[in-house]
Amino acid sequence: MKLTFTCITCNKRKFFTNSNNGLCPECHIINQNRSKQKQPEKEELKRKKEKIRKKTEERKHNIKLANEKLKTELEQERIKEIIKEQKTKEDKKRKLKKINYKAKIKKLKKEQNKRIKLEDQEEIINLEKEAEKSSSSNETVLFVSATVKRLKVIEWRNGKKKILLNKEREIRKTHKGGWSQEKFQSFVKTQKGKALDWIESNLRKEGVLRLPYQKVLIQAKENNIKDMLEKILKEK
Ligand SMILES: [Zn+2]
Repeated sequence: MKLTFTCITCNKRKFFTNSNNGLCPECHIINQNRSKQKQPEKEELKRKKEKIRKKTEERKHNIKLANEKLKTELEQERIKEIIKEQKTKEDKKRKLKKINYKAKIKKLKKEQNKRIKLEDQEEIINLEKEAEKSSSSNETVLFVSATVKRLKVIEWRNGKKKILLNKEREIRKTHKGGWSQEKFQSFVKTQKGKALDWIESNLRKEGVLRLPYQKVLIQAKENNIKDMLEKILKEK
């Protein structure tokens, strides 16, 4: 069956069996030839497009990778920063703890020293009272209390009290702080030696002691001071 068509390209009205997408056979052949000529161009364009697409994708992928890498690096950096901060905080805490601990120890030592001092004073007072008491039953009583810094000597003769010596010596620490243990020990040793000399020279001054005494009471914590006092007071 033949139909009448109007070709959409050449507008010719003709009889032909197949419309070939609205083209007459002539136009259809021309169109086909044109398409064949354009094929390599089309393929080339397709290839180019594909290449661009791949490149774009690759670039996107690379950007993604770079971003992830950067993210990881930033994350690690942040973790490092946090660890560092934590360490600093802990160091500070530890330092403060150490300082507090030292202060606490210092305070405790101070309190202890105070207590010992008070106990010593109490002991001196008690021994002095004992001496006073025994002066009623002894004709002569001597009470001596000596430390590296202080010297107190009281005599009771026929019940009459007389303070013979009441002295205090200043120990100057010219190099306080920054001393080695060795140096400090040697300083203490020297001071103790000086204390012995100081006590002995005071006791041996003319007119201080009138030996012998019926009863002698000695209050001295340092053994070398005690020994020295006993030796002097036993003379004659
Ligand atoms: Zn045509």
